Amino acid sequence: MISQKLQDAINYQINRELFSEYYYLSMAAYLNSEGLSGFENFFLVQGQEERFHAMKLYHFLNERGGRTILQAIEAPKTQFNSALEIFELAYEHEKLVSGLINDLMDLAIKENDHAAKNHLNWFVDEQVEEEASMETILNKLKLIGGEGHGLLMLDNELAQRIFTPPAK
Ligand code: FE
Repeated sequence: MISQKLQDAINYQINRELFSEYYYLSMAAYLNSEGLSGFENFFLVQGQEERFHAMKLYHFLNERGGRTILQAIEAPKTQFNSALEIFELAYEHEKLVSGLINDLMDLAIKENDHAAKNHLNWFVDEQVEEEASMETILNKLKLIGGEGHGLLMLDNELAQRIFTPPAK
């Protein structure tokens, strides 16, 4: 059985993962309106990953005798200026999420909940990848100045991304 305190904290994280899905969907919608369908695809897939993160925590709570309590999801930002700005925001957002996962891990350690620690380890590793993937694309965008032929080449590259649910 999971402690109430940890249960509340995981519920908050579920809310943050669902907000992330919402945020990336908002970015995808902007990128579609700019004709950047490859960039749009990247964020649609990213949104699917965020839903997967939320569901992973949902199932964990259920298995531990807890319950998911859904909370309101605030409206995401809807006005953007460029693909470059979007990747700056997405990279900042992933760094923020990494901080939240670290806080959750700190609590699991404090509560001496080994099952939660093991489960959260997956998220710790995942955040390393999330930050790296956002930073890599951000750096490419900076290199090409966020426009022109390079932007279209990057758009083609990002069109290839598909969602594959990670193995457990
Ligand atoms: Fe996530």
